[in-house]
Amino acid sequence: MEYDMPLFRPPSEARSLIFQVTLGCSWNRCVFCAMYKTKDYLVRPFEDIERDVMEMSRRYPDTRKIFLADGDPLAAPTDHLLRVLDLMNRSFPALERISTYAGPTNLRLKTLHELQEFRARKLDVLYLGIETGNDRLLKKIRKGATADGIVEVCRKAIDAGLRMSTFIILGLGGVEGSYDHIKDSAKVANAIDPHFLATLTLMLGPYEKLYEEEIMGGGFKLIDKRQSLQEVRWFVEDLTLTNCKFGSEHASNYLPISGTLPRDKGEILRLIDTALADMSSRLIRPEWARGL
Ligand code: SF4
Repeated sequence: MEYDMPLFRPPSEARSLIFQVTLGCSWNRCVFCAMYKTKDYLVRPFEDIERDVMEMSRRYPDTRKIFLADGDPLAAPTDHLLRVLDLMNRSFPALERISTYAGPTNLRLKTLHELQEFRARKLDVLYLGIETGNDRLLKKIRKGATADGIVEVCRKAIDAGLRMSTFIILGLGGVEGSYDHIKDSAKVANAIDPHFLATLTLMLGPYEKLYEEEIMGGGFKLIDKRQSLQEVRWFVEDLTLTNCKFGSEHASNYLPISGTLPRDKGEILRLIDTALADMSSRLIRPEWARGL
């Protein structure tokens, strides 16, 4: 099987067998995301996917986990996806779960019943970037959804029995929009009540000037290390989740945290406060070790 590069997957899918059901991202307009800018969106023909699945089922017959790529396979027609999921279930007898990226623009096209049909075929975890719960920022970054819209599609998926793995991006609102970005993001996360929640930290590299001047407009200033830790603190202190694995271990973050909320909330807040009190602390990831 040959992959159409570039290929992305969440870190937690490192041990999953990846199949490209679609190529690229059907939305492909989020201003902070360059993942699929080099690809045109395409739903791969069933026969091509079938060839890959057949080959892999011979090589790895005991596969237990599958990840569907690229950016948003749920944008494919439902009957196509059902056929693909049935094929995978037939071909891998030990299969336990299938996961994929999802976005608000494709998830809103699927009904509760369709999502239940996917769930019945072992689709289990959806990875979805909330990015921010602030409507003004969602518009600026061209996410194609409002905060209420993101909550609605995520709740629909959860009601269908799927598990949501969601994340927000620290720093997206810059210095001036920092507080509103985080407080609104916590409201959205609470309303979704996902199974997994993570933070990433905005890293723009060579696009920093473009993001500051052309996209966010006058006076926008990126947050620094301390402000990033302050954002995590504001975020965690507002979370009222019922049972969620929380993490900021992604390499873009300055402070790696992991725990279960609400159980570990006090401990997580204490860890952030310790780091905030000593910005040279070994707890904090050095700039050179950060990456996307
Ligand atoms: S929906 Fe996801 S993959 Fe597509 S452009 Fe936005 S962030 Fe990137």
